[in-house]
Amino acid sequence: MTSTASAPTTIGGPGLPQERRLVTAVPGPRSQELLARKAAAVPAGVGVAVPIAVVAAGGGVVVDADGNSLIDLGSGIAVTSVGNAHPGVAAAVTAQVQAFTHTCFTIAAYDGYVEVAEALNRLTPGDHEKRTALFNSGAEAVENAVKIARKHTGRQAVVVFDHAYHGRTNLTMALTAKTMPYKSGFGPFAPEVYRVPTSYPFHDGLTGAEAAQRAVTQIEQQIGAENTAALLIEPIQGEGGFVVPAEGFLPALADWAHANGIVFIADEVQTGFARTGAMFASEHEGVVPDIVTTAKGIAGGLPLSAVTGRAEIMDSPHAGGLGGTYGGNPIACAAALAAIDAFEHDGLVDRAREIERILLDALHTAQRQDPRIGDVRGRGAMIAMELVDPATGDPDRGLTGRVVRYAFEHGVIALTAGTSGNVVRFLPPLAIDDALLAEGVGVVLEGLASA
Ligand SMILES: *Cc1c(COP(=O)(O)O)cnc(C)c1O
Repeated sequence: MTSTASAPTTIGGPGLPQERRLVTAVPGPRSQELLARKAAAVPAGVGVAVPIAVVAAGGGVVVDADGNSLIDLGSGIAVTSVGNAHPGVAAAVTAQVQAFTHTCFTIAAYDGYVEVAEALNRLTPGDHEKRTALFNSGAEAVENAVKIARKHTGRQAVVVFDHAYHGRTNLTMALTAKTMPYKSGFGPFAPEVYRVPTSYPFHDGLTGAEAAQRAVTQIEQQIGAENTAALLIEPIQGEGGFVVPAEGFLPALADWAHANGIVFIADEVQTGFARTGAMFASEHEGVVPDIVTTAKGIAGGLPLSAVTGRAEIMDSPHAGGLGGTYGGNPIACAAALAAIDAFEHDGLVDRAREIERILLDALHTAQRQDPRIGDVRGRGAMIAMELVDPATGDPDRGLTGRVVRYAFEHGVIALTAGTSGNVVRFLPPLAIDDALLAEGVGVVLEGLASA
């Protein structure tokens, strides 16, 4: 056996020292050892963006096997919003794992599943009667939302948008826009998926109403409203680069869908659960989706996803038409109930808004002095800067890679995004403290200054 321990040896959670501390160059020797084993045991297609061997995490830090403590500005892609190894989540999981671990909900029911459904029916936008079905991943939730919309409408076409990301399964690859790395070579893709232009204010300069009209005209001319089962959209695009649509775009699309009997599905897998400074991002413009898909932040790191929607839509599939072996696993549900309790009662929506102020202040100040920062955007703890060549306005993917690399080498985990790979995204856990957040964004901007 090698010396990299296979079980965590450090207790994580918010009790970890909240500091950036590098005791080796990164990746250190133990991390390198794990990554060498990974290369021999795991297919190359499963990449690792941040080459460390994690042994503990909590609050705003991730600790590796070499004893380095890195500032976490990624939350495992917006998952550990309540904080990694959150004490309430850890306690709920421990209690549940000792009671029972699995029944398959479609074989025998249990309280946790129904309680998560009740919580989501209460918390998602709109006070109409709702139903919630639980699954394991974001992609699986999106697939089921499409199944339900097709069954309800008796129509087949699904409309998605430029720069969209909805997952990596066969149907969700078709729904996702970007070919590399998500789709290239993995076809054929599912039929009856149609892509239309979105609203991207930094690039298109259109108002929300103009961008919505452009999309609607294309749908009416090329697909036909009468053939369209669903409009599927991220209220703020995630992997696409934290694109916030111009004001009025989402409400206009939702109204048009409603008027044409089309199911409006908000994919809130990344934006949900306090991330954007509201419980759900649809709320920023008062949009009430027919169906909301959620996952990522829902359960403090355990795999769980949900489809929540109008009762009459959700009840259209026949009994036995929806399900899966693990969907709504009792341990994941226990974790979700603890996480939801934290979202509701620990002020995390307000915390996301404070994080927005800190990040926007730092990034706007930097932007005034550096024309390579073409755009600063986002809401809550979902903020991005888009890097461009100031002479041409072209996306600068190389610079973006160098900035994120510098950040890593200086103890900060930052992620990229965007169809052109030229967006640095900030997705800190809501459990990060102000000092660590400011230090983390400072290191990223130092990386930009020195690149
Ligand atoms: C991550 C993501 C998905 C896919 O979720 P998985 O759990 O990775 O399957 C779907 N939609 C959006 C908006 C996402 O950000």
